[in-house]
Amino acid sequence: MAQKKALVCGAGGFIPHHLVNRLAGEGYWVRGVDIKEPEFSPSQADDFQLLDLRDPDQCAQAVAVNGGFDEVYQLAADMGGMGFIHSAECEIMRNNALININTVDASARAGIGRYFYSSSVCIYRDMEIGEPEINEDAAYPALPDNEYGWEKLYSERTVMAYGRRFEFPTRILRFQNTFGPLGTWTGGREKAPAAMCRKVAEAPNGGEVEMWGDGSAVRSYTYVDDLIDGIRIIMDSDEARPCNIGNPEYVSVNELLAIVAEVAGKTVTATHIEGPVGVMSRNFSNARIEALGWKARTDTRAGVEQTYPWIAEQVQAAAGV
Ligand code: NAD
Repeated sequence: MAQKKALVCGAGGFIPHHLVNRLAGEGYWVRGVDIKEPEFSPSQADDFQLLDLRDPDQCAQAVAVNGGFDEVYQLAADMGGMGFIHSAECEIMRNNALININTVDASARAGIGRYFYSSSVCIYRDMEIGEPEINEDAAYPALPDNEYGWEKLYSERTVMAYGRRFEFPTRILRFQNTFGPLGTWTGGREKAPAAMCRKVAEAPNGGEVEMWGDGSAVRSYTYVDDLIDGIRIIMDSDEARPCNIGNPEYVSVNELLAIVAEVAGKTVTATHIEGPVGVMSRNFSNARIEALGWKARTDTRAGVEQTYPWIAEQVQAAAGV
């Protein structure tokens, strides 16, 4: 059988870097594309190109390969945690719409086999803690809490429109908050699990850790390996509708801090300060992706046990310890 060829967009970033490694391990020929090289460990891509996917000509270059790509995985985005999402609305709307439009357009014109798009549960409305789980159809009528969510919803529709017109299968997952080693852990774009790990690593035993808001907001934190399982499962499936994907364990930010502190073997106290908290809760059904055989294998604590030591090492290295 001919070796399959996959293009991973955003391959210098956290989730796409893990995806490149998975595909390489499965025997694919992989091209990674990003505006930057992976920060923490070398890419296992057969070919890595530094390209700006906002530019149509560079997108055409990304998708051009002898014999064509069987699969394109579009995960490139100008993104970050709540602090970034609330402070960079115009960049998020402009850069991500350009990346998504140009990448799917170039892929369609190049005659690719199948297209994956990484959406987000940020496309949903704000929810109350304990509200019954909602499924994918509850995306409409749309009321995302932030511009990042609106852009994701627009791009889901763009991808599906191109799939219909150019007759190639499209696969979409709406990711919950995802964490693990090799993710952004400092600099303002890090998300809650990485931020908590960094703060606890930096704090002395018995010290204080700053937390935005009162810590009651509830999230589901998905370990990166589980998410990659889901990407591969949906890509090989016949499921053309968007699917939620996340760890079904709901954890408040206060509980997350307690888990991190326990794993670190430290006692810390939260100091609650003003900051962008985002929605109150996320309660989603994963039934659609679970019907394809996917299940989260890693609970929050097990994921933190993998992630905290790596972030603690980065903190020590940055401090020159
Ligand atoms: P990440 O920031 O680590 O990776 C995204 C990569 O895209 C970065 O390396 C970045 O340099 C690259 N990129 C940005 N602009 C580009 C451009 N113009 N051209 C080429 N590359 C460009 O993010 P991640 O956490 O790995 O997220 C991957 C995808 O999953 C994103 O689409 C994100 O919106 C989505 N997502 C992530 C989460 C999460 O919790 N991490 C949750 C929901 C959705």
